[in-house]
Amino acid sequence: MSRIVQKYGGTSVGDTDRIRRVAERIKETRALGHELVVVVSARAGVTNELIARARSVSANPNGRELDQLLAIGEQETCALTAMALQGLGVDAISYTGPQAGIFTDQFHTKARIRSINVKPIEKDLKAGRVIIIAGFQGINEEGEVTTLGRGASDLTAIAMAAALNATSCQIFTDVDGVYTADPRVVKDARKLLELSYDEMLELASAGSKVMQSRSVELAKKYGVVFEVRSSFNQNPGTIVKEEVAYMEKVVVRGVAVDKDQSKIVVSGIPDRPGSAARVFRSLADANIIVDMIVQNAGRQGVANLAFTVPQGDTERAVQALEPVLAANGGGQVAVQGRIAKLSVVGVGMKTHSGVAASVFQALADAGINIELISTSEIKISVVIELDRADEGARVIHAAFGLDKA
Ligand code: ASP
Ligand code: MG
Repeated sequence: MSRIVQKYGGTSVGDTDRIRRVAERIKETRALGHELVVVVSARAGVTNELIARARSVSANPNGRELDQLLAIGEQETCALTAMALQGLGVDAISYTGPQAGIFTDQFHTKARIRSINVKPIEKDLKAGRVIIIAGFQGINEEGEVTTLGRGASDLTAIAMAAALNATSCQIFTDVDGVYTADPRVVKDARKLLELSYDEMLELASAGSKVMQSRSVELAKKYGVVFEVRSSFNQNPGTIVKEEVAYMEKVVVRGVAVDKDQSKIVVSGIPDRPGSAARVFRSLADANIIVDMIVQNAGRQGVANLAFTVPQGDTERAVQALEPVLAANGGGQVAVQGRIAKLSVVGVGMKTHSGVAASVFQALADAGINIELISTSEIKISVVIELDRADEGARVIHAAFGLDKA
């Protein structure tokens, strides 16, 4: 007998018909004799809707009250799923995050899990029940409901799989798995059967929206092997695990495009110790995540910095920078909104040379200009013009033969 944790995302439980279909699927797995713990998201769109409602009654809703409100999205689907299962004759019980023993820190709307008390769940599993848990939520020391950050139902599933020592963890979503590129953009993109945690993390941070990166980090930390697969068909998905030796043979695993970034150029700042520190401190204090930093060689006492930030943070970044530049003794801020970040990921890059050269050549042959470059051990990212991002993904996908198994 295996112990399986499954997670169904917002589209998979998007309405009551779909919830009934999910219940049937759960029943099939249960009929194989496995112990089963299921984590569900809110119906697609519900969390956004609840946030919008909160904003319509208050410009700056209080974190505690926001969490009270947001938690109901997942509570609805977990209760309905349990009812649907009971209707199919399956012994099922729903748990909210707090009932599931998920203890978090006190940071409302972005709480971190501290510990999980699995005793009540273990007891119900022993009694043969299927357990349905509301994702994305927990309880803090004061007994207040907390939520774990957007997209964190994945996190609940991975954390549960780790705490319960599950044999397998299946993340059901609306896509078949992780592809070598976005299949809507690159027609001959292939589904990857296996992927390492690090590659998945780089792909997730590079803009492939299959899974929340924090959840992948947690899976890596606890060695939770998981599978990303579709709840709408029976196709096998993508298995994500620690890298294995033969993965090294494949140099490039996939290409991702992130169209939600803008490029900020800070020019004419004094070329002396502390300038960059002040610039990035001001952004950090504003809680803005900066990516792809490039500084050119200083000339005549001044230097230029370019970097990318999430598009939604652009205005705030400029506002945070202006006073710093004034205090710093000069400099201008310019924003370039219409850019995209194109990333190429693969663990094989660690041991192969020439990957960067091939990426740049493929773009050059297509006449696509590169504005910024950054690299990690297993990723090369470039900033290019937004309107050419899809084409860039296609030429790189072809250049590395990613369409071939
Ligand atoms: N419902 C939450 C959100 O939309 C959590 C999740 O779906 O994973 O962010
Ligand atoms: Mg989600």
